[in-house]
Amino acid sequence: MPKTFDLVGVGIGPSNLSLAALTSREPNLSAVFIDHKDAFEWHPGLMLPDAQMQVHFLKDLVTPVDPTNPYSFLSFLVDTKRLYRMLVTGRSKVPRREFEQYCQWAVARMDNLRFGTRVENVEWDGSAFAVHTDQGMLRARNVVVGTGLAPRLPQSVWGHDPEQVFHTDQLLRHKRDFAGKRVAVVGGGQSGAEVVHYLLNSGTQRPAQIFWGTRRSNLLPLDDSPFIDELYLPDYSHHFYGRPEREREDIVQRLRLSSDGISIPLLEELYQRLYDLELLEGGGRSCRILLNHSLRDLTRTPDGLVVSWQSAYGAEPVRQTVDIVICATGYEHSMPDLLLGLKDQLAISDGMPVVRPDFSLEWDGPAGHRIFVQNAAQREYGVADPNLSLLAWRSAVITNSLIGQERYDTGSVSTALDWDTADPQPADEVSDELILNTHH
Ligand SMILES: Cc1cc2nc3c(=O)[nH]c(=O)nc-3n(C[C@H](O)[C@H](O)[C@H](O)COP(=O)(O)OP(=O)(O)OC[C@H]3O[C@@H](n4cnc5c(N)ncnc54)[C@H](O)[C@@H]3O)c2cc1C
Repeated sequence: MPKTFDLVGVGIGPSNLSLAALTSREPNLSAVFIDHKDAFEWHPGLMLPDAQMQVHFLKDLVTPVDPTNPYSFLSFLVDTKRLYRMLVTGRSKVPRREFEQYCQWAVARMDNLRFGTRVENVEWDGSAFAVHTDQGMLRARNVVVGTGLAPRLPQSVWGHDPEQVFHTDQLLRHKRDFAGKRVAVVGGGQSGAEVVHYLLNSGTQRPAQIFWGTRRSNLLPLDDSPFIDELYLPDYSHHFYGRPEREREDIVQRLRLSSDGISIPLLEELYQRLYDLELLEGGGRSCRILLNHSLRDLTRTPDGLVVSWQSAYGAEPVRQTVDIVICATGYEHSMPDLLLGLKDQLAISDGMPVVRPDFSLEWDGPAGHRIFVQNAAQREYGVADPNLSLLAWRSAVITNSLIGQERYDTGSVSTALDWDTADPQPADEVSDELILNTHH
């Protein structure tokens, strides 16, 4: 084991696994990656049996930048002798369980991943980073933080019994009893839809009544139409990085449905299931969908939990009494606690570290020592940052920066839209165009 690693990676989710796969081709780079879980798992709390990926299977850990890398999805398919059958399925987006199996297959073939170790703090000791873990300390010339996002729970549900009120991230963590219960689902994005679909199809475990509330104006579809998909190409990310901050914030809001909408096949299945339950099985309307309402508060009463929904248009709040509340309220990025030891050395803007074009943080330490971040630069890189589409590209940018060579081509690719040659437009005009695209 080297005295000082060239790179210590914190977290082994898809982001750092991709970087581990690319850097495994660098014999002169010593790297180790650490995760506090005992083994690789991918969002186990929401690994629903029918859940599908939202990106093409070729957008894997490596292929978009390094198709001959041994950790490609195609290598996994060949190695597990399922390539021909997989092709017969005709799928371009595989089940989430298969993506997890692929990552586990890659993990089993790498020898520099350490599970069961929690990183507690990272400090600068004057010549290297000291990465403090619950199993001892490692020294590193560079650090890459890939600890993912944290589940976001609305403040109005804090303090309730976590068995009754929980985030979707917890749904499958242990066996739950929904049979005959009244369940509220908060949030009308993909995870809310997946949870409602799961509950409606849970056989004897099906709730008696589901109340599904969203502040959106409808159950809006994921927009992955061709020109919108170009937002998930490196060129758009470069372009986005160069836009003024106010415009970037605006664009992220307006493009939300390109990542947070509900996939159309799932909307169709849900609609059909509701039809069958109500009209073929005569079960009445067991799922009520409340649009334009957000969760206002939650009160415990002897009869159950009273959910109060606030109308977007000022109408009287709607109240429903339920036994369980599931919050499909998304994830958020905040500055990881483990970087607090470096806080005084980081450039901070609006409470968050500033990310440079190579995904390293702006800091006052020596230029050859960097703190990279994965999946923590939506502000700088836009809607593609938390998505898997540019996973391999981001790892390639980081690898190039680490080794100081253009090992991977991370420059322009062929695009249909001319992002960087477009005349600069006032922010309002740009936004209007994007609205049109988003709600085509
Ligand atoms: C249910 C779900 C489905 C998704 N499906 C898709 C999809 O189909 N397509 C798509 O493009 N995107 C999808 N996403 C978004 C995104 O691709 C995933 O969230 C992805 O897992 C992000 O990878 P990551 O490595 O950045 O973070 P994570 O997968 O969250 O991994 C972070 C890792 O860091 C570890 N960790 C955290 N803190 C520490 C610490 N202090 N010490 C050691 N280890 C630590 C955690 O144990 C974890 O293993 C999905 C997100 C969710 C929640």
